[in-house]
Amino acid sequence: MSQLSIAYIFHHHQLLVDEHYQLPQVEVLATDLTFHAGDQVIARDLMEHEPIPAHLQLVPIRQLISLWSVDEFQRASRAVQLLEWRRNHKFCSHCGHETHVHATEYAMVCPACGYHQYPRVQPCIITIITKGQDEVLLAKNANNKSNMYGLIAGFVEVGETLEEAVQRETLEEVGLKLKNIRYMSSQPWPFPSNLMIAFQAEYESGEIQLQEEEISDAQFFKFDQLPEIPFQGSIAHSMIMQIIQPATNT
Ligand SMILES: [Zn+2]
Repeated sequence: MSQLSIAYIFHHHQLLVDEHYQLPQVEVLATDLTFHAGDQVIARDLMEHEPIPAHLQLVPIRQLISLWSVDEFQRASRAVQLLEWRRNHKFCSHCGHETHVHATEYAMVCPACGYHQYPRVQPCIITIITKGQDEVLLAKNANNKSNMYGLIAGFVEVGETLEEAVQRETLEEVGLKLKNIRYMSSQPWPFPSNLMIAFQAEYESGEIQLQEEEISDAQFFKFDQLPEIPFQGSIAHSMIMQIIQPATNT
C-alpha cells in the first residue's frame, strides 16, 4: 500500500474535512500539487464524479476561519491560492503554448519560449481611521446585503505606494483626508489571492461623501457603540479590536 498524505481537497471554495474539521489522508496522485516538504501534504481539486467518503464533508473555506487556528487557516489559504494559480496558468501568457509544472519551484514553465509564470499576490490595503480618542470610521459595503460595517479597503494601483493607496481609497470611498498613516500588520487572504496590508490613520479633514456604487453608509462610531463588525478571524476584526480595546480597558 502506498503512503498516505494529508490532503487539501477543494471544491467550489469548499474544503473536504472530517467531522472534527481535520484534513483527510489520501493516496497521492501524479497530478497533485505537492508542497516543498515532499509529498506528505498535497492539494488538488475534487475530481469530477469523485465520491465523498461518508466520514468527510465539504465546508466553506470562510467558515473554517473561525474554526481553525491562524496557522492552520494560513496553510489552507496558501494551498487554495497555489491551486488557483496553477488552474489559471495552464497556458503561457507570452506565447500561448501549454505549460508544465516546474519540478522544484512554484512555477509554470513554457517549454516553447521558456517563460516562467510564478504565483502572484495582489496587494490590498485596509485602513482603520480614528477621530479623536474614541471614534472609528466604519463603512457598509453597497454590495453586501447584511448590516455589517467594515473598514476602507482596496487594491493598490500600479506605481503607487501603500500610503498613497490608503489616502486615495479613503478619498474615493468616503471623501476624507487622513494624517499619521501607520502600518499595523498583514494577512494573506485567499479570496482569491490577496495580501491584506493593514494601516491605521487619523481623520484630518473633510465631510463624509459616499462613493455610492461602493459604499451605502459610513459613519464615525463611538468605540462603545459599534454596529455589527466583520467576523473574528478577519484582519478587519482584529484591527478594530486592537484600536478599541486599549480605550475600553482603561
Ligand atoms: Zn511561451
